[in-house]
Amino acid sequence: MNTYARLPVAFTHGEGVWLWDSNGKRYLDALSGIAVNTLGHAHARLTVALKEQISKLIHVSNLYQINEQEAVADKLCELANMQEMFLCNSGCEANEAAIKLARLYGHQQGIENPAIIVMEKAFHGRTLATLSATGNRKVQAGFEPLVKGFVRVPYDDLDAIHQVAEHNPDVVAVLIEPIQGEGGIRTLDIHYLEQLRKICDQHNWLLMLDEVQCGIGRTGKWFAHQHTGILPDVMTLAKGIGSGIPVGACLAAGKAAGTFKPGNHGSTFGGNPLACMAVLTTLAIMEEDQLVVEIRGQGLIIGIELDRSCGELVKQALAQGLMVNVTADNVIRLLPAMVFTTAEALQLLDQLCPLITNFLAQGA
Ligand SMILES: *Cc1c(COP(=O)(O)O)cnc(C)c1O
Repeated sequence: MNTYARLPVAFTHGEGVWLWDSNGKRYLDALSGIAVNTLGHAHARLTVALKEQISKLIHVSNLYQINEQEAVADKLCELANMQEMFLCNSGCEANEAAIKLARLYGHQQGIENPAIIVMEKAFHGRTLATLSATGNRKVQAGFEPLVKGFVRVPYDDLDAIHQVAEHNPDVVAVLIEPIQGEGGIRTLDIHYLEQLRKICDQHNWLLMLDEVQCGIGRTGKWFAHQHTGILPDVMTLAKGIGSGIPVGACLAAGKAAGTFKPGNHGSTFGGNPLACMAVLTTLAIMEEDQLVVEIRGQGLIIGIELDRSCGELVKQALAQGLMVNVTADNVIRLLPAMVFTTAEALQLLDQLCPLITNFLAQGA
């Protein structure tokens, strides 16, 4: 069906962040299949792991125990500090699970018409419930009647949430992207999520984070909300979690955990051994390659924290005509002059990145 206005190019193969089209032209892929190809294209270790899994078992059914799925649950719950997980095959399905969970949670509290607060410019998917939760008329137009039970407020506006809290006793949850992707890469005030967490606790609402696009390492932490001190009750993941194998996940914690009982929700393909192997391998490779702990700073005061002492780097850089400093034993400190140009910044990257990569490779 004619559902996409496609660009006139077809790719035949890829390697890392590079793609080749059918005419042999090479492209630098700065989109990763919309935040999907976490490990780039044709990652050697992922390829081997998936081939091995295919030769053993692709699918059995959730009627049986699936060891790989339990391993994924353990790993994701550990990384997110959450308790339970349901696996499906896409972002919209993960959000469907979250929406159903919130409604069931509401009914369990005696609320007959549970409502979920959603945001302007939000994107949660293309199924009927998730397009109804989405804050974009273009996504909804022509598909009315929309699914009821959503209350929309402006993004990054706590007053609007307070207003709803005062007037709508049917609210049971808030569904929000910590960074809006499809809405135009919009971020929240640094204190917003902490305040929202408090409001949710006051009213016994579930805080449900859609991290389908911003999760899985994209922001420098495993999950975008981990830049704050809060924990969500529900978190949805998809896109980058399987490096291209379709996987979605809905995690629950605290008062959201235990809501679904056998028979409340399901998926035929969800969490099959092949999908789970993609998740396990993606997470394992990311974890092992995480030698740069964090990059911090603002403007031209920048710290690059490594997983080990790196004073030695100062001498190695100097030998190559590059002056940097190391502070606090394992933090490379960059303090270039205010006249620093973009071209000079690029030159700094050209010199510093291979230095750090080589330094980390020596010790590994
Ligand atoms: C892409 C996206 C979805 C929908 O994911 P699909 O896998 O396309 O169903 C949901 N939420 C957010 C934030 C997304 O970016």
